[in-house]
Amino acid sequence: MNRPLVIPSIAADIRAGNRAALARGITLIESRRADHEATARELVQELLPATGNAIRVGITGSPGVGKSTTIDALGMDLIARGHRIAVLAVDPSSVRSGGSILGDKTRMARLAAAEAAYIRPSPAAGTLGGVAARTREAMLLCEAAGFDVILVETVGTGQSETAVYDMTDFFLALMLPGAGDELQGIKKGLVELADMIAVNKADGDNLSRANRAAAEYRSALHILSPRSENWSPPVLTYSGLTGSGIPELWRKIVEHRAAMNKSGEFAQRRSRQQVKWMWSMFEDRIKARLRNDPAIRAKVKATEAAVSEGRVTPALGASQIAELLR
Ligand code: GDP
Repeated sequence: MNRPLVIPSIAADIRAGNRAALARGITLIESRRADHEATARELVQELLPATGNAIRVGITGSPGVGKSTTIDALGMDLIARGHRIAVLAVDPSSVRSGGSILGDKTRMARLAAAEAAYIRPSPAAGTLGGVAARTREAMLLCEAAGFDVILVETVGTGQSETAVYDMTDFFLALMLPGAGDELQGIKKGLVELADMIAVNKADGDNLSRANRAAAEYRSALHILSPRSENWSPPVLTYSGLTGSGIPELWRKIVEHRAAMNKSGEFAQRRSRQQVKWMWSMFEDRIKARLRNDPAIRAKVKATEAAVSEGRVTPALGASQIAELLR
């Protein structure tokens, strides 16, 4: 790809809101070819001034909790209020299988057909760290293309939840009514990440069970000290299916943004994330070098064997590997 000519032109097209250019830019970011990586880095750098203006919302929940139904309903509600929505995904299953169960357009039928929405499945290549890095950059491109709400979904596994928490302004945990394991998410430490807990499927026969589940979450949250003195994570019930309670979800997200802006925590969270992203990309690059350079890889294997057989101490092994990277 001819860098000097192509980058400004794709960048301009993305900023003009051209979807084909956006898709092309994200494909470039997801590519693992070394020359593409350099070009992608330049593209993101070029677009940087046009990024950062969206509300970034992470959404987590076990399969079947209703993530796609919720995103479809919330997205359509937001479009009706004049927003433009991008939906991205971090799906650890895609790392193993090469295919993502999230972000598939068929899961969000109305949103997929909407001009004001852009849906992109989880990148499949590489480690979770690599997938998260690519999703972060895709998010920046979506912002440059004028999407002002970015929804990043993930399934309820600890590591991918942390990755999505680290790239969003608001982290929403979706729960099922009365599955008998109401407090499971709280035990898993999800509560340390969640800015709001929302119990879905509060409709029909589920209504009272949903209310009970919400009450349990509320009392459980009560005994834990909140992450911020300016925000106590609320617990809401809603129905993605009927749409009841969906506007309240958004109202809370907007309220949170206002509170965080006022206290200065919004800027702090974003800037902490920037530094964290830098280090995680740095780590990824080091690990990639250890993996990809055949000469280094052979020496690393030999060191590993020596440490595992007790011939070399872990400390000496670590210095030997560090030496290889000089
Ligand atoms: P995901 O795997 O988290 O994306 O969940 P889906 O959105 O695919 O929903 C899983 C199932 O739950 C589907 O059969 C949905 O129709 C159903 N579902 C989703 N939201 C609601 C809701 O608010 N109420 C009810 N009753 N069912 C729902």
